[in-house]
Amino acid sequence: SPIIVWIRRDLRLSDHATLHEAGKSGRPVIPVFIRDHTVDQLGAAPKWRLGLGLGCFGEALAEKGSRLILRAGPAREVLDALIDETGAGAVWWQRAYDPASVERDTAVKSALKDREIDARSFAGHLLFEPWTVETKQGGFYKVYTPFWRAVCDRDVPEPLPAPSKLAAPESWPESDALDDWGLGDAMRRGAAVVEPYVQLGERAAQARLGAFTSGKIADYDKGRNLVAEDGCSTLSENLALGEISPAQCWHAAMRAKDAGKEGAETWAKELVWREFAYHLLWHTPHLAESNWREEWAAFPWNEDERRKEVIAWKRARTGIPFVDAALREMYVTGRMHNRARMIVASYLTKHLMCHWKIGMDWFEDCLIDWDPASNALGWQWSAGSGPDATPYFRVFNPITQREKFDPDKVYVDRWIAEGQSNPPKTALSYFDAIPESWAMTPDDAYPEPIVSAEDGRKAALDAYQNRDF
Ligand code: FAD
Repeated sequence: SPIIVWIRRDLRLSDHATLHEAGKSGRPVIPVFIRDHTVDQLGAAPKWRLGLGLGCFGEALAEKGSRLILRAGPAREVLDALIDETGAGAVWWQRAYDPASVERDTAVKSALKDREIDARSFAGHLLFEPWTVETKQGGFYKVYTPFWRAVCDRDVPEPLPAPSKLAAPESWPESDALDDWGLGDAMRRGAAVVEPYVQLGERAAQARLGAFTSGKIADYDKGRNLVAEDGCSTLSENLALGEISPAQCWHAAMRAKDAGKEGAETWAKELVWREFAYHLLWHTPHLAESNWREEWAAFPWNEDERRKEVIAWKRARTGIPFVDAALREMYVTGRMHNRARMIVASYLTKHLMCHWKIGMDWFEDCLIDWDPASNALGWQWSAGSGPDATPYFRVFNPITQREKFDPDKVYVDRWIAEGQSNPPKTALSYFDAIPESWAMTPDDAYPEPIVSAEDGRKAALDAYQNRDF
């Protein structure tokens, strides 16, 4: 009988244990993607990017003589109906680790088992399953460095090849049309602006991995902090949707390390930050919901999204050039440099004393590399409320950070048009992407800081010192 392969955040053919095993079985394989509540609740940019990824993955499957069947509805109902329609005896999938997926998958697995369907989940989204990394006391890790030490010498299995063949069923079940799903609807004007920056699909991701690990990885230690430079891999959007596997990245890093490329180990450590984020999210699902350190609930965060500071931050008109440049980079490209993410997050949560959830949600709406674990950990780390967080009293100064990491103002000028006599296309494209209702033009005067670096720092430190926990 056919095997249904339930595709989720794993839009690739190579190093895909589920497809590999299904292909090897010789049985007909029916790959299915389900638009359920976990898809409907995505932010505008990740949902749009998912739509692009699904289109591309459908084509890759077609090249193998297979198809991607699209269905909408609660996963359990959709799978039940598909089993009835196709006579499938198995439903296999790659595991996900965010709380909504875990809850859904647990219920689906037990319902399928009740029907005596072979329900099986496979690893692949992570290098190390979260429950396999334990402290000596048998608990989970809350601090990154010991986590790294615990995993850095582990064997990571060699990536699997793409299945040579995926047998088609006698007849294909019906599929929704991807265009009818409207996954890009919420992007409005943004889609045309962001699209040129997308690195779509497995082939593009592999090409980027190859180019990066044979080139810039060598200078990654230094290059990764210079915001105007292309010193990082840019693979996060592909990792987020599983267009490349972490094991493929890990092995490429290890080969580069063996070849004497200096930055390779640092890059591998970044891959392990992603692992650490999932480790924490799996063990403490509230990471993405509420202050990881519960006492932070008593901190006087500003939580009103209508405040003028929040609006200025979202619209990238805080009057702090580094912060505004970064937020515009995100609006135009769907990505933001890691150093810049730390600066805008610090400015929102410390200088403006706004709740980190406001920023986390905004990133979820704007990032094409949105990832439930890394985004949550990044925000709680920046705010000081998370495990292994930067202490609240350590306030990034966005002026000196700019001097250090964008010394020639290349990044700031690339993204901020106001005040430039001949602004570059990148800076102007921000105005093509934003909603008209924001009423901003490149000819506006660049604003004075809504909260200056010094005043914000002082207010944040005062609030921290006067806290009652
Ligand atoms: P590289 O520098 O080439 O690193 C390689 C890979 O390692 C990345 O693709 C990513 O998967 C992983 N990685 C690198 N840095 C981190 C990190 N600090 N935490 C976890 N994983 C990391 N990353 C996301 O993928 N999605 C998010 O939604 C996200 N939100 C963030 C929010 C905040 C406030 C902060 C401070 C960081 C966030 N990050 C997020 C982490 C990091 O900024 C991005 O992973 C990185 O900028 C992606 O660029 P790259 O692929 O070129 O990374």
